[in-house]
Amino acid sequence: MSERLTIAIQKSGRLSKESLALLQACGVKFSIHQARLLAHSTSHPIDLLRVRDDDIPGLVMDGVVDVGLVGENVLEEVRLEREATSQRADYIDLRALDFGQCRLSLALPKEQSQLSLADLAGKRIATTYPFLLQRFLKTQQIDAQAVMLTGSVEVAPRAGLADAICDLVSTGATLEANGLVETQVIFRSRAKLIQRKQPLSPARQQLLQQLLPRLDGVQQAKESKYIMLHAPKQRLDEVVALLPGAEAPTLLPLSDQQQQVAVHMVSTETLFWETMEQLKAIGCSSILVLPIEKMMG
Ligand code: ATP
Ligand code: MG
Repeated sequence: MSERLTIAIQKSGRLSKESLALLQACGVKFSIHQARLLAHSTSHPIDLLRVRDDDIPGLVMDGVVDVGLVGENVLEEVRLEREATSQRADYIDLRALDFGQCRLSLALPKEQSQLSLADLAGKRIATTYPFLLQRFLKTQQIDAQAVMLTGSVEVAPRAGLADAICDLVSTGATLEANGLVETQVIFRSRAKLIQRKQPLSPARQQLLQQLLPRLDGVQQAKESKYIMLHAPKQRLDEVVALLPGAEAPTLLPLSDQQQQVAVHMVSTETLFWETMEQLKAIGCSSILVLPIEKMMG
């Protein structure tokens, strides 16, 4: 049996670049040939399977791949569909990732945007996510019909195929260009890392256990900043009170003077311009905010 860990990622689309970047940031090296389905890591016993995002949840649930990176929207839609058709639909939720944010929303033609949810009864709603839509309609006790379209959902009302749509929205520009108005968010999504429910071989499980803390370190680092500044010793309490984040800062003496001290700290919050100005006003100087590449607790 192969001891290589198989990871499914989207071949080309909105999740591809960040999925690859995340693996690379975890120290997993790949050389990707655009045309190839499979990519072998040169640094670890890991194979990448590059597929359409719609196929990723099923591949994980069937145990064909070990882990996958996929949007919650697709994951939940596939899970509901497989449940409804008595196919295996279980998986292990490993991590929520900080990319791929979007929302699935109902949108109506501009001239009908005043309609309430209840007015959707008896109407046709075009969508690529019929199961998520039906679940929402059921909880709202609305009897409307989901019309399944795999693409160009936003043109359905104009083409007379539907009265409303239920589609992914990020900025709303596509909706606006098609004379539609977002009226209700029905599902919020981000990318997730999932694992198959079927046990992995010890070697593969061990490799995954090594990668997860790295992944956490990469995500944590993205959210954190390293803050350095010179502060007047007399006003240290005020300085510390202004700095975001609870952890105690490190204080270092400055070789050429007695009045000032260097303050270093890792913060999970951004240091706003306003705070930097306040720090300067109480005598701080050389205020630096640096990005952090990696972290390990
Ligand atoms: P495929 O050919 O793999 O089926 P696709 O056309 O279905 O691709 P994409 O448009 O690449 O899918 O979107 C992939 C996923 O990215 C979506 O299912 C969603 O989870 C997420 N996503 C959608 N819109 C955005 C956005 N604006 N920004 C970030 N992520 C998004
Ligand atoms: Mg897709």
